[in-house]
Amino acid sequence: MIASPTEPRKDRLIHERIHDPYKSLQKPVGSSVCPVCNAVFKDGHWQWLEFWPLDTPREICQACRRIRDNYPAGFMTITGEFVQTHRQEVLNLARNQERAECALHPLHRIIHIEEQADAVTITTTDLHLPKRIGQALERAYKGRLDLHYDEKGCFVRVKWTSPKNKLNHPTMKRRQL
Ligand SMILES: [Zn+2]
Repeated sequence: MIASPTEPRKDRLIHERIHDPYKSLQKPVGSSVCPVCNAVFKDGHWQWLEFWPLDTPREICQACRRIRDNYPAGFMTITGEFVQTHRQEVLNLARNQERAECALHPLHRIIHIEEQADAVTITTTDLHLPKRIGQALERAYKGRLDLHYDEKGCFVRVKWTSPKNKLNHPTMKRRQL
């Protein structure tokens, strides 16, 4: 097979996915502040603080690096008829879950939301947020939730499919014929 020009990049991505460069990054020594999002690394973890000393060393956090490089750790697909009929509701739920998660864990964020006709895909900076969004969807609307972690624990793929029998759900309205 003749190698196409895109192949080296693909190889590199596979290589990097196995040896996740973000996961292996050393935690900052002492305190740091991220110049992009202002998350502060203190007492061994990243947190949101109102104040930090002016001379705190600056270091870009892993979440901002992943956003800059568009290199997600989590990938979530939301599919099913429900997505077409209740798209805004689903998007709001995802954003609300992100807000709540990020308030506690500054490095857990949505990188990008892509809307297709019959699906919504969400990429995240971390492994936890897709599961959180998926479980919130499952709690609210039932449906089916599939989680798949790669064997090294560097990447998660979550899929939520809306239930088929939507009319059993109290929030559903039957179209008037
Ligand atoms: Zn940051």
